[in-house]
Amino acid sequence: MTFSDLGLSSAIVKAVEEKGYTKPSPIQEKAIPPILSGKDILASAQTGTGKTAGFTLPVLQYLSETKHIKYRPLRALVLTPTRELAAQVYDNIREYSKYVNIKSTVVFGGVNAKPQIATLKKGVDILVATPGRLLDLHDRKAVSFKRIDVLILDEADRMLDMGFVRDINKIISFMPEKRQNLMFSATFSNDIKKLASGILRNPVSVETAPQNSTAKKVTHKVYKVDKKKKTAFTIKLIKDNNWNQVLIFTRTKHGANKLTQKLIKDGISAAAIHGNKSQGARTKALKNFKDNSIKILVATDIAARGLDIPLLPHVINFELPNVPEDYVHRIGRTGRAGATGEAISLVCSEESEYQSEIEKLLKEKLNSTIVAGFEPTDTAPPKRAASQSKRSFGKKNNSRNTTSSKRNKSKSKPHFKEHKLAKATSGRGRTGAAKKKRY
Ligand code: AMP
Repeated sequence: MTFSDLGLSSAIVKAVEEKGYTKPSPIQEKAIPPILSGKDILASAQTGTGKTAGFTLPVLQYLSETKHIKYRPLRALVLTPTRELAAQVYDNIREYSKYVNIKSTVVFGGVNAKPQIATLKKGVDILVATPGRLLDLHDRKAVSFKRIDVLILDEADRMLDMGFVRDINKIISFMPEKRQNLMFSATFSNDIKKLASGILRNPVSVETAPQNSTAKKVTHKVYKVDKKKKTAFTIKLIKDNNWNQVLIFTRTKHGANKLTQKLIKDGISAAAIHGNKSQGARTKALKNFKDNSIKILVATDIAARGLDIPLLPHVINFELPNVPEDYVHRIGRTGRAGATGEAISLVCSEESEYQSEIEKLLKEKLNSTIVAGFEPTDTAPPKRAASQSKRSFGKKNNSRNTTSSKRNKSKSKPHFKEHKLAKATSGRGRTGAAKKKRY
């Protein structure tokens, strides 16, 4: 199967070939033909599957083949949960649209809105945006949704987690009823299904991997480690194995900063990426990591979401996520494009329950190893706390929020709240759902 076989024009195929793609990925094979024929799509696809080209290529083709109106009203909108993902999708669109007469731009919060307004005023065909900034720009009459033909929701599950549902619905309310809708999500909770049923019309389902499964070529390793020795163990792993490109996940922004400082002190080049970092610092950290000027990128879940880091060999979960689906998202960053990857988790006693919930979701037991000198000596949390966390696990409803925040409060250190990122990104208040996740 070639890109031309999928019905893509020579101008699009040429740009894709210049990127070095020789054949379509499975999601591209499945998604491109129905999108070209104007169907709505509900696609289950993680970052790393080639999903961005999967929706961008047919939409670019559609836009370039339909008649241009001189002032270029906005005709396609891609909504993403984070600034980084928006910037990445936009970079892809620019590359793929090299040989077609299509104008695109990107808008997100955390940076000056004036240049964004100026670009929008000149007219663009396709816009990539985070929901909050987009609504601000709409309020300021810098953008109109009246001529939208195609709406794409990328990483819809994370947009829900970040509390963007109200913003999304508001944006849609300004659009014409008749349009094509494409929704991409890594997981399919009931909330996602509900959102999809309100937006999509007779969607074609596109699945590339079994629901909630992890990439096939990832090996999972669990090290049972004493909580206080996790940093030393991480340094040992990196140094003993001579690893040069590792993405490390921490649960909190504070934890990310602390670990980064310790790695640097130990002579390992590292940078942190999280919601408290300026957009400039985040972009720089990601660029340095991608071009190998730094070895380690330490990230919180939301900041790392959707980052395109090709062929990442190792992901370390410095702490296990307290929402099991996040484990799937995290390790989606390794073993991509057919390469094998290693997902390493450092699990202290109080995280054992998180591990069992992840195993339940994966339907797979994760083998645990204990390394001499780093054995867990800390004790599991008291029974009551454990049962609280059990109840709070895996259920994305309000009762989980309450128990989850109780659990956080019960810990000695306050947890930094990554959901502030959503607020910063949007510059407007969030719905109650924004308070769902605590990182
Ligand atoms: P995505 O899942 O869209 O974030 O894409 C992940 C990575 O795969 C990006 O670096 C893309 O440039 C790359 N990619 C997308 N489609 C293909 C393809 N057909 N062949 C090889 N690489 C691809």
